[in-house]
Amino acid sequence: MEGGFEIHYQPLLDLRTNQVAGCEALLRWRHPERGMVSPAEFIPVAEDTGMINELGDWVLRTACTEAATWPSHIRLAVNVSPVQLKCETLALRITGALTASGLAPGRLEIEITEAVLIRDDEAALAILHQLRAIGVRIALDDFGTGYSSLSYLKRFSFDKIKIDRCFVSDIEVDGSSAIVQAVVNIAASRNMTTAAEGVETEQQRKLLRELGCTQMQGFLFSAPKPASEIRRLLEVDQATARVLA
Ligand code: C2E
Ligand code: MG
Ligand code: MG
Repeated sequence: MEGGFEIHYQPLLDLRTNQVAGCEALLRWRHPERGMVSPAEFIPVAEDTGMINELGDWVLRTACTEAATWPSHIRLAVNVSPVQLKCETLALRITGALTASGLAPGRLEIEITEAVLIRDDEAALAILHQLRAIGVRIALDDFGTGYSSLSYLKRFSFDKIKIDRCFVSDIEVDGSSAIVQAVVNIAASRNMTTAAEGVETEQQRKLLRELGCTQMQGFLFSAPKPASEIRRLLEVDQATARVLA
């Protein structure tokens, strides 16, 4: 892809085993004058201009090809915008990326936000079911930041709920840990796993583990990193697992 785009990867750690379970692909744009531009700034522009479809395809193909080189138990998570979920050919294009890379469908996890389900969007739901039929996993990202989130859990059986960073950052404050506990319980009762986003302190990790959260992601373990650094990190993680086994 032209235009200074690159993908960084951030590990998700299993809270019981302390092993890396997967990595999330996070898009970066290296601007000649402005340096690294945040996706929070340029994704909305790409959505408005329709460029997100082409960009999203590039992310999927590149990240699947990279993940196919990782140990086979490591999953790949890719963010998909509500605009991409409106496109009828998404499932076909994801199948294409999987086939071209040789990545098993069960190793790919698509992250969507509640915005996808805000309107009674039957078309988006139909596409989610197509993705499920291919064998791809579906995660609900930034859980708890939108409106009436709980109703979305009834509309589609997600594989994973990602608990938004805002609940993690004040988990030591009264109230937030009760919310995290409730989400973990709901998820468990519906056979979903949970991942806590934005974990930055050892105390947060300890509490999340006690609350039964499945995975954590955040600067405490690792920030998003270029592909080459992630490969090294995964090698070290594998070696540690062998020593501990
Ligand atoms: P997200 O999917 O919720 O990704 C998590 C964001 O939290 C990432 O920001 C990550 O760098 C940041 N983060 C991770 N750990 C920590 C932590 O411990 N503390 C703090 N303060 N932040 C942490 P990033 O990379 O800037 O991405 C922002 C958002 O842009 C993503 O949120 C996602 O919604 C979107 N995005 C990124 N890449 C893509 C993409 O390829 N396609 C689409 N459609 N959206 C993307
Ligand atoms: Mg995400
Ligand atoms: Mg998130």
